[in-house]
Amino acid sequence: MTVEVDKEKKKDNILESTLRMIRHAIDLANLSPDVYEHLKTPMRFVEVAIPVEMEDGTTKVFTGYRSQHNNVFGPYKGGLRYHPDVTSDSLKALSMWMTLKCSLVGVPFGGGKGAVVCDPMKLTIKERERITRSYVRALGSILGPEVDIPAPDIFTDAQVMAWIADEYSSNMREPSFGVVTGKPLAVGGCVGRNEATGRGCFFVAREAAKAYEIPFEHSRIAIQGFGNVGSNAARLFAEEGCTIIAVSDISGGLYKEEGLDIPRLIDHVNKTGFIKGFPDGEVITNEDLLALNCDILIPAALENQINGSNADDVKAKIIVEAANGPTTPEADQILKEKNILVVPDILANSGGVTVSYFEWVQNNYGFSWDLATVNKHLQDKMVEAFRNVYHYYCENCIDSDMRTGAYMYSIMRLAEAMQYRGWLRNGIYA
Ligand code: NAD
Repeated sequence: MTVEVDKEKKKDNILESTLRMIRHAIDLANLSPDVYEHLKTPMRFVEVAIPVEMEDGTTKVFTGYRSQHNNVFGPYKGGLRYHPDVTSDSLKALSMWMTLKCSLVGVPFGGGKGAVVCDPMKLTIKERERITRSYVRALGSILGPEVDIPAPDIFTDAQVMAWIADEYSSNMREPSFGVVTGKPLAVGGCVGRNEATGRGCFFVAREAAKAYEIPFEHSRIAIQGFGNVGSNAARLFAEEGCTIIAVSDISGGLYKEEGLDIPRLIDHVNKTGFIKGFPDGEVITNEDLLALNCDILIPAALENQINGSNADDVKAKIIVEAANGPTTPEADQILKEKNILVVPDILANSGGVTVSYFEWVQNNYGFSWDLATVNKHLQDKMVEAFRNVYHYYCENCIDSDMRTGAYMYSIMRLAEAMQYRGWLRNGIYA
């Protein structure tokens, strides 16, 4: 019981701290309080019952949500997660981050996020499919390629997206695969989507190193989390000549001063599921990894990893937040005092939604790009977003941190669009 309450409090804090950050950015940019009024709550938040016939013949009713935060730029966009700990407040915060991300990187989407409260580990594949189809039947009327476009998130994948595309298309009586992104290639997916977040993170880290005058190809990098994002970023860093001195996952960490052999490590993890047992490197803990002397630290696992109790130990020059919410507000303060640049999550991990946008564009055109084209467009978008945000931060809030600059920059763009659409009758400034 205590654990559940604590979990609830922790998730609720994400919403509180996000709202605090939005309010702070609006005040600092001298924007109208009306902007906060528009952003403080989702435009629509829906809770639905998801009845499912289980394989043992019983019926279970799961809870489903969709948070549609803001659509000033275009259709809502954001992941669908299957997880037992999802709360309505955490989903609202996640949908706000999507709004900020899309604005920042300049893709014409608003922020959304959805969930089904369930434990995917305890579901058979048939039950997962039935939950997915039931979710679409319950919420299909507020989804659509021009309305709201889900994508994979925690414990949902390309197969789940294909079921959504199929169920939605049969309900609409026409093929309508643009209703989701992150689909398998055979049903309108996009090459490069799977590794897009790690690749975007790589582009952003390279720009940050340039800004801090660190020779990138000789930089020493530590990565916490070696899943989709962490391992793809690691591979690209290694290919560029950077030295990956440490990585970690849920099974622990590995350190090697001369650099870990990343392709071999990826093979090992593909075979065994974990870093543990890889023969080359010194075993370290996740806490050790965060405190290593390195140029760039990439948290690519969970939220709240760099916090008030360990931020002072961080020795990296730059932190690039591949994960969502890995640094607490208390840690932000400490890192700022230590002159460590934190490239915030809403910028650093926006490669995924950017390539989702490319997938949607291709679905709309009925034409597929090759990998080189996708990666080139991704690089252009990420580099431009980094330079815009970094420049804005240096010009407008250098005494604060880059996260504040990113929020201000993103909200300025949202406010401008709101004004043109007639949502801010008294102008965008206070
Ligand atoms: P994943 O499940 O593929 O990998 C997560 C990794 O973190 C695994 O290696 C896991 O072992 C490790 N991990 C879990 N608990 C840990 C712990 N206590 N200490 C150290 N490592 C631990 O997930 P992913 O898709 O790579 O996502 C990683 C982060 O990036 C998440 O915060 C996610 O929200 C964020 N993100 C992902 C995407 C995407 O496209 N996949 C997009 C935006 C943001």
